[in-house]
Amino acid sequence: MTRKIPMVDLEAQTKALWPELEKAALDVLRSGRFILGPNVEAFEREAAAFLGVRHAVGVGSGTDALVLGLRALGIGPGDEVIVPSFTFFASAESVSLVGATPVFADIEPHTFCLEPDSVAKAISLRTRAIIPVHLFGHPAEMDAIGELARRKGLAVLEDAAQGFGAVYRGRKVGGLGNAAAFSFFPSKNLGAFGEAGLVTTDDASVADAVRRLRAHGSRERYVHVEIGYNARLDEIQAALLRVKLPHVATWNDERRRVARAYDAALAGVKGVTTPTVAPGCAHCFHQYTLRVPPGKRAAIMKALEAEGIATQIYYPIPNHALAMYAQEAPSLPATDEAAGSVLSLPIYPELPDADAKEIARKLIATLR
Ligand SMILES: *Cc1c(COP(=O)(O)O)cnc(C)c1O
Repeated sequence: MTRKIPMVDLEAQTKALWPELEKAALDVLRSGRFILGPNVEAFEREAAAFLGVRHAVGVGSGTDALVLGLRALGIGPGDEVIVPSFTFFASAESVSLVGATPVFADIEPHTFCLEPDSVAKAISLRTRAIIPVHLFGHPAEMDAIGELARRKGLAVLEDAAQGFGAVYRGRKVGGLGNAAAFSFFPSKNLGAFGEAGLVTTDDASVADAVRRLRAHGSRERYVHVEIGYNARLDEIQAALLRVKLPHVATWNDERRRVARAYDAALAGVKGVTTPTVAPGCAHCFHQYTLRVPPGKRAAIMKALEAEGIATQIYYPIPNHALAMYAQEAPSLPATDEAAGSVLSLPIYPELPDADAKEIARKLIATLR
């Protein structure tokens, strides 16, 4: 195959919406309103309606959304926050950034999301919050985690960076805890043209705190009531996100179509485990992540690369194995097992079924 298949293809999406994107960007340039203008306000309203939450607050990135979300929930020095280790670094980094301590819990091996019993075991007298991550676009087990949090008086901050449009028991993720953090990093299911993020919540006081924190701890000019951040969503990113938002539901359906094509082509293949979708959940397939035999993974990647097919390991080094966190890390067997065996295949809404089948066929050939 001389043609290359990347992990994500942003160009196809951009091309299809080019005239609208161009107009939206130029309108902002002409307007002279670059910070907290009408597009941010409108995007917040439109995103809140899409996600089914009362409040949405645009911020500078997904990491800002996690940090401001934690601060708004009152998390700080001396507090412990339970997070999965098997996730992007920012899920844990944000906890450290607010001066709290991340405490790592293990995952459920099929969905790659927090395992509630492991969370329960990680709770101490200093625990103040839990960050369930909707990893790869699969919703975390929010009922059990929410019940545990209620019993123990803990806050729940969803890391929904990979879950825009994922559904848990009839409700979109983002409204299932006290607050949620979304990322619009360009490769996410809803991607900006630079950095962007969003905090969602049904709690007006949390929304208010995030609005204050994103603008130097101030809602009234020059009246700073706490130490905050410069973490606002840009007007231009909001304008471009508004062009893309009406298409996300369709794009997520297309991602599910690609996943079904992979599932069908890889069903029953010895050594390969296709992604699980828990009952009552709609996966939004930010990633399509397989389990493959650990001893064969490097060879599979190399063989597919030679065919022009990109693959990736998300995530090869779990956070508890990083030097800065390794000191007090618990034993997390399911996390270690996942880190050693996962392999993500290309997935994006424009990927044809025929390509998914071809990729699957070539992957199967590498196992022989
Ligand atoms: C992308 C991502 C983040 C961070 O988002 P940024 O917008 O890059 O700051 C946090 N958590 C998870 C799980 C992510 O995938």
